[in-house]
Amino acid sequence: MPSYQSYLKDIKKTISETDVQALKKVVELRNGTTVIDVREQDEYVQGYIPGARWIPRGYLEQRIEDAVPERDREVILYCASGNRSALAARSLNELGYTNVKSLTGGFTAWKRAGLHFDLPVVLDKEQQIRYSRHTMLPEVGEAGQIKLLKSRVLLLGAGGLGAPSSMYLAAAGVGTLGMVDDDVVDLSNLQRQIVHAQERIGMPKVESAAQTLKGINPDVKVVPHKMRLTSDNIMSILADYDLVVDGADNFPTRYLLNDAALKLGKPVIHASIYRFEGQLTAFIPDAGPCYRCLYPSPPPADMAPSCQEAGVLGVLPGVVGVLQANEAIKVLLGIGTSLAGRLLIFDALKTKFRELKLRRDPECPTCGVGVDRSKIELIDYEQFCAVG
Ligand SMILES: [Zn+2]
Repeated sequence: MPSYQSYLKDIKKTISETDVQALKKVVELRNGTTVIDVREQDEYVQGYIPGARWIPRGYLEQRIEDAVPERDREVILYCASGNRSALAARSLNELGYTNVKSLTGGFTAWKRAGLHFDLPVVLDKEQQIRYSRHTMLPEVGEAGQIKLLKSRVLLLGAGGLGAPSSMYLAAAGVGTLGMVDDDVVDLSNLQRQIVHAQERIGMPKVESAAQTLKGINPDVKVVPHKMRLTSDNIMSILADYDLVVDGADNFPTRYLLNDAALKLGKPVIHASIYRFEGQLTAFIPDAGPCYRCLYPSPPPADMAPSCQEAGVLGVLPGVVGVLQANEAIKVLLGIGTSLAGRLLIFDALKTKFRELKLRRDPECPTCGVGVDRSKIELIDYEQFCAVG
């Protein structure tokens, strides 16, 4: 029986090898050669050769056809020292790959030569467990989960809608959650605003929410914005985020948000609730209408509905806020069909959903034909009613 060393020596006689200087040229040229890192995860996380694809040795035969469908394409394999990649090259030859090379000296030689390497973003052991029900969905996968962890979502309002949506977004591993709210937790909030708690009455809502969200998932960074959005601050706040979940409870903020989001090209997941009914849609620039396509301008202050606090079934913002989180995750991952151009209406008493088509208005003052969005002026509309 041959020893491992003599076996390896024989294998190396049958395969092609390349060296780091030749690979360096390939990396610089990006000439269509596929470079594959066949090391294990604990090695890969220490750094990899720029542009290389990572397929651990144990999965190589299984995944190579997806990674490299053309069997005559040049493939360069590397491991830590050039032995595992030599065995892997032999295996690919046997699968019919005709232009496979193994990197002599492997990643160790690459590093010793002082060549640049990249550090990957990968899920650590705890994250692999935490997000396993996501990563086993092919539509999400590890790449999708990493995308969520890098995503930044701004929640307007830490109230009825912001509570459930922020909790599910945190649990899903959306890495940065900004929260805009200038209010403090009140006893009357706790009937529906489940992100807060009895012992935190009197505490700023953004702080109370941050405590709950960190408790759900320490991966999540919560950025509190204890303020009201105005035309002076909205652009700089929105600029830092990928998407806005709108749980605002007033018209001035909706118009201001719509206009600023269009200027910056940010998607807004919009919702509102009233008594037993909730409404939900997605305003995605150029993929559907905006808020002003539906309501071009706010009603005059004296025509506005009374701002007397209306009653609301406590569970209603739960249903609608969770749907907002669902929309946000889909838009962030680019999967499924968004609610752009559709208004979903939920009737809690009948337990019924209805859907209305929403059309983009070519005459819309903010997203209509010929409108230069960079010139949209942000307006601080008056609060429609005195807070009484
Ligand atoms: Zn519009």
